[in-house]
Amino acid sequence: MSFATLGLSPAIVRAVTERGYTEPTPIQAQAIPVILAGTDLLGGAQTGTGKTAGFVLPILHLLSQRPAANATAGRSPIRALILTPTRELAAQVEDSVREYGKHLPLKSMMMYGGVNINPQIQKLRGQVDILVATPGRLLDHAQQRTVDLSQIEILVLDEADRMLDMGFIRDIKKVMSLLPKKRQTLLFSATFSNEIKTLADSLLISPVTVEVARRNTANELIAQKAYAVDRERKRELLTHLIKENNWFQVLVFTRTKHAANRLAENLVKDGIPSMAIHGNKSQAARTRALNTFKDGSLQVLVATDIAARGIDISELPHVVNFELPNVAEDYVHRIGRTGRAGSQGEATSLVCVDELKLLTAIERLTKSPIAMETLPGFEVDPRIKAEPILQRSQPGNTPNRQPRPAAKSNSRPAGHDYARVPPAHRSGGRGR
Ligand code: AMP
Repeated sequence: MSFATLGLSPAIVRAVTERGYTEPTPIQAQAIPVILAGTDLLGGAQTGTGKTAGFVLPILHLLSQRPAANATAGRSPIRALILTPTRELAAQVEDSVREYGKHLPLKSMMMYGGVNINPQIQKLRGQVDILVATPGRLLDHAQQRTVDLSQIEILVLDEADRMLDMGFIRDIKKVMSLLPKKRQTLLFSATFSNEIKTLADSLLISPVTVEVARRNTANELIAQKAYAVDRERKRELLTHLIKENNWFQVLVFTRTKHAANRLAENLVKDGIPSMAIHGNKSQAARTRALNTFKDGSLQVLVATDIAARGIDISELPHVVNFELPNVAEDYVHRIGRTGRAGSQGEATSLVCVDELKLLTAIERLTKSPIAMETLPGFEVDPRIKAEPILQRSQPGNTPNRQPRPAAKSNSRPAGHDYARVPPAHRSGGRGR
């Protein structure tokens, strides 16, 4: 199948071909015809499946093929709104809009918080056909009446599950109240929880559901490893693993912003160039960290789940769970950063006695056991007892995220008995 047979215009097919794509991905093949037909869509797809082009391409087609209503003073109104949970995702989606729309006269803009609002106000005075925004800043503009959403023809909620996780439900509802009732709505989500179904029911009219298999739930291209280690020795073990195995481009996950900062600082003290990326950092700092990481000059990027979500860094050789996530689905998102596009990746988890239940919950979700081992010199101290994991070690930590119950007490799978964790054969991975 080709992009042209999906019904996309030559200008769009040309941009896609120039980008180097020869064939639509499964989500694109399914979603594009539905969107072109003007139907509402519920898309089950996560980052990495090609979902962005799956909605951007048909939106570009629809807007370029039909004239805008109500053009005033030579300027047409904003016609498509794409809401994303994070600034990074907004930036990436808008990049895609520009890239795929480069042979079309449509104009796009991205809008997010944490940066000066005035340049955005200035830009809104010019032509904007497609607006990519995070909900909070969009509402700021709406309140100041610097944005007009009354002519939106197509709305996209991208990574809707993550928006709900981040507590954006009220913002989303407020935005909805500013949009025309008659519009096409597309909702993408990696998971279909009851909350998502309720949201979809309230927003979509006779939607078509398209779903592609979750990537990486049991991706054989990802080697998953877990090391048992004492809580206080994790950083020492991580430094050891990175140095022993010459790991470069390591994406390390922590649960909190505070932990991300502290770990990055400590790794730097250990001589490993590292930076932390999370919601409290300025946009400039995040972009800088991400760029140096992408170009290979930064060895380690330490991230929280929310900050990493939606970042398009593909084919990473190493993802490390310095702390296991409270929500098992986040593990799947995290390790999905590695082993992409046919290259082998390695996901390593450092598991202390506090986290055994979380590991069990992850295994249950992914339906694959994760073997745990210890490294010589890092054997666990059996006298150390499990302590509760603090959910909010920092004020301002992720809102509205409730950890799921880690495991039902009566059905714990075998394994993860710290007393019986076998030693590693060697210190893991590639040689020096
Ligand atoms: P997404 O799921 O939208 O974040 O896309 C994941 C990655 O797949 C991005 O790096 C895209 O550039 C890439 N991609 C999107 N569509 C295609 C395609 N048809 N063929 C090859 N790569 C693609």
